[in-house]
Amino acid sequence: MFGLGMPELLIIFLIALVVFGAAKLPQIGKSLGGAIREFKKSIEAPHKEEPTAPPDEIVCSQCRQPLQKDWITCPHCGMKQEGKSGV
Ligand SMILES: [Zn+2]
Repeated sequence: MFGLGMPELLIIFLIALVVFGAAKLPQIGKSLGGAIREFKKSIEAPHKEEPTAPPDEIVCSQCRQPLQKDWITCPHCGMKQEGKSGV
């Protein structure tokens, strides 16, 4: 890749070692790792979010289909809706 072989990478690593100092390299790796972790987290975050219905929308407790307010049973799966209106 980029015309760099293992010897060149080794030389770059050695130069980095001299420039930053051996003591600082683990720290740099750590902050780099943390940045990558944060980046991955920001990518994965949208997938983790559950699709939630708007507060005023009633959904079936079983099949999550939208329901009308006065429906006592779900027309999609026949599940009886409890704790809703008019009980
Ligand atoms: Zn249902």
